Amino acid sequence: MAEVFINGEYTNYPQLERLPITNPANGEEVDTAPLAGPAEIDEAVQSAYAAFPAWRDTPASKRGEVLGTAAEAVLAAVEELAPLLTSEQGKPLREARMEIRRFVHTLEHYAGMAKNIRGGYVPDLDEGTYGMIVRRPLGVVGAIVPWNFPTTLLGNKLGPALITGNTVVAKPAETTPLTTLRIAQIMHEAGLPAGVFNVVSGTGEDAGQPLVEHPLVRKVAFTGSTPVGKKLMALAAGGLKRATLELGGSDPMIVCDDANLDKAASAASVGRFFNCGQACLAVKRLYVFESVADEFIEKLAGKVRKLKVGPGTTQGVMLGPLHSRRQRDLLEEQVNDAIDSGAEVLHGARVLEGDGLSEKGHFYEPTLLVEPAQDSRVATEEVFGPALPVWRVRNMDEALERANGLIFGLGSSIWTRDLDRASEAAEKIEAGYTWINSPQVVYDELPFGGWKQSGYGKEHGIEALEYYTETKSVVVKRPVAADPENATQELGSSR
Ligand code: NAD
Repeated sequence: MAEVFINGEYTNYPQLERLPITNPANGEEVDTAPLAGPAEIDEAVQSAYAAFPAWRDTPASKRGEVLGTAAEAVLAAVEELAPLLTSEQGKPLREARMEIRRFVHTLEHYAGMAKNIRGGYVPDLDEGTYGMIVRRPLGVVGAIVPWNFPTTLLGNKLGPALITGNTVVAKPAETTPLTTLRIAQIMHEAGLPAGVFNVVSGTGEDAGQPLVEHPLVRKVAFTGSTPVGKKLMALAAGGLKRATLELGGSDPMIVCDDANLDKAASAASVGRFFNCGQACLAVKRLYVFESVADEFIEKLAGKVRKLKVGPGTTQGVMLGPLHSRRQRDLLEEQVNDAIDSGAEVLHGARVLEGDGLSEKGHFYEPTLLVEPAQDSRVATEEVFGPALPVWRVRNMDEALERANGLIFGLGSSIWTRDLDRASEAAEKIEAGYTWINSPQVVYDELPFGGWKQSGYGKEHGIEALEYYTETKSVVVKRPVAADPENATQELGSSR
């Protein structure tokens, strides 16, 4: 039975209600997890607060060593963790392993930065006076993550937070707490001190919100939907807390007339259907130059028809179930709306049941829709599931206008052999990330974060360290030999 992880141990709260964690492939109960509330959040925050001074004062290189060792321990447990992740989230085992490894890589990346956390030095401010720009951690960070990538999205916060000397209380999504709770224990057993990383399971309202509002929490690191992000930003403002928000997106991909159509079709297929389409950075709208549209769409349809759907534990499966019935119902509504608006269905658009698939699972056939109306839901809302709408466009101007026409600005892709055209378009696309002739790989080295209503602040890259530290200016006057006359002059010239 899963328990919350506070101050280096699992703590049982018999009075708490427990939420069944069910397998999205068959509806079976995997475990139950406590629904923590403000009291347990307070305990976790107090533990992180108590652990902060010692962790902050640990030499950075030692923090790097501890974080690196803890990451290695998680990697060593990948064959235990991946099936657990599949059972609570639904993704194919192969993707679950990739996700855990990605979490480890991110921690290792930041562990390697331990010796590069710097401040600054400004000489000659005044006679005998110099300035230092000192970089310090913030304190307790509240990290809130969704269910689509429960571990990697946590790693994006944990790595920069811990390496800079902060301590963390994480609140996973209520439906996917199990892998995170186990990872916290593994990292502690590998040497991460008690209280430095705590995990509390529960709902957004009862556990997430008290975490954001807790007076000892200095920063909120959130990944989730745009409406909840807006709410949390307002709550964080109440305490003038730092906040980074990684929110929803509807990423466009533009395929030009000179693109490598085979590679673009592969990138569109993987980019849309990875994790059953439940990725913030999925390709969610496809704009293809009309002169190559038929050829491209045929190639893409060929790939989509080959995608094998099934339980994540079945060998060779490329798409697991959607995470919940709610997600599948929402997708079905959006697809039906697209069809009603005039879209042609090239593949999919149906719930999958029978044929070895449990009716308690949330399976949906990968779906390719051509030319839904411009005001249809798939054209204007985030589609968080395996359905890809495609439109023909006359030229780059039209593609850019449509690409930029929504409130979102997370990622984007351009396929063309003309790199001048690609660079110019990349400058004009309103998004935090643009891939040119490349699949949607997120690199630890590059800052990542949405524009417009897709986010606020950056994760990844050395830039992320800025979001987990404060700088302060320190002015130092060198001691001079005692001279009463000089001292009076100096006072007179003070600003
Ligand atoms: P969600 O916003 O409903 O929930 C995310 C997390 O916030 C969960 O842990 C939830 O319990 C918590 N939460 C909900 N209400 C809260 C409240 N009032 N106070 C505090 N915490 C609260 O998101 P979701 O639907 O579970 O996840 C999917 C969304 O996440 C999509 O929109 C997707 O695009 C987005 N996402 C963004 C990124 C990115 O990096 N930009 C990455 C992955 C997912």
